[in-house]
Amino acid sequence: VLATQPPCVLLNDGNKMPMIALGTGRGTAKETDTLDDVRNAVFWAIEAGYRHIDTAAVYGDEEQVGQGIADAIAKGIVTRDQLFITTKLWNDKHARDQVVPALKESLSRLGLEYVDLFLIHFPIATKEDGSPDNIDYLDTWKGMEEAKQLGLTTSIGVSNFNISQIDRLLANSNVPPAVNEFEVNPTLTQEPLVYHCMSRNIAVMAYSPFGFLVSRNRPEAPPPKYDDPIIGAIAAKYGKSPGQVVLRFAIERGLVPIPKSTNQKRIAENINVFDFELSAEEIAAIASFNKNVRVIEIDGWKDYPNYPF
Ligand code: NDP
Repeated sequence: VLATQPPCVLLNDGNKMPMIALGTGRGTAKETDTLDDVRNAVFWAIEAGYRHIDTAAVYGDEEQVGQGIADAIAKGIVTRDQLFITTKLWNDKHARDQVVPALKESLSRLGLEYVDLFLIHFPIATKEDGSPDNIDYLDTWKGMEEAKQLGLTTSIGVSNFNISQIDRLLANSNVPPAVNEFEVNPTLTQEPLVYHCMSRNIAVMAYSPFGFLVSRNRPEAPPPKYDDPIIGAIAAKYGKSPGQVVLRFAIERGLVPIPKSTNQKRIAENINVFDFELSAEEIAAIASFNKNVRVIEIDGWKDYPNYPF
């Protein structure tokens, strides 16, 4: 258990967001991961000091996330107000009048009265069968503003928005997005998008933070892999693991990484990254792995309106 809580970033709406979140998306997880593993992972994470959990309607595990939270509250480890819970609106609920009902359904699955952050998962709208729909995300955003107004979520934001989509949203909204969540790791450092968001006071959550450091069943993937000598030397210097070095790389850049694990030991390892710092040279060395290669490809949506990549 950490002696102190992880630090927070101050969002543009005054809300405070803890600087590391447990990922609960199982899309890139082991085939053996079950929904019950999510319940345990959330409980172990809170026990280990995490105060931020990242889930989404499409992950199909909001119920188990809620159970893990309830277990931790029942054991007296935390109170609800000490937690920061993020969930996301799926692509087939983008019509303005679908947003609040969709969030209410997420809340009922989570067993919560509010979430701390609600994100538009993708700028792309689809019909229920997954075929493209042409709902403008500016209309979706009006529904997001209503959800905030109703107190169903404290903060609202987006995920997988690119620079021009961020600009168009900022120019046409009453409440600016507090967060943009997108992929960032050593092979996808995203300097332009990170800079763009931060200079407009939009906090960045970094998904798939390990990149190809962990196995993605992509043998052709670029370095760094887990046994990379450059990462290994930095890890040895600080007495940390390669995974911890890569998470610290995100934190040094002011990002909020979202490591996913259902393994109790690795869950504890991943939050133990607040007692060392990387030098500017080490940060530059890790950033030089950048190849603009994504872990999360959505090629199937290439021809859909508002495809962001
Ligand atoms: P991660 O970079 O978190 O990698 C997860 C993998 O790394 C798992 O196989 C995990 O295995 C393994 N792992 C975890 N910790 C360690 C460690 N210390 N050492 C070695 N291996 C480790 O990738 P994800 O793609 O899962 O992304 C993380 C989260 O980001 C998701 O769960 C989700 O919440 C969010 N996300 C959001 C998206 C969006 O569109 N907004 C898209 C993709 C992800 P094990 O569990 O066995 O430890």
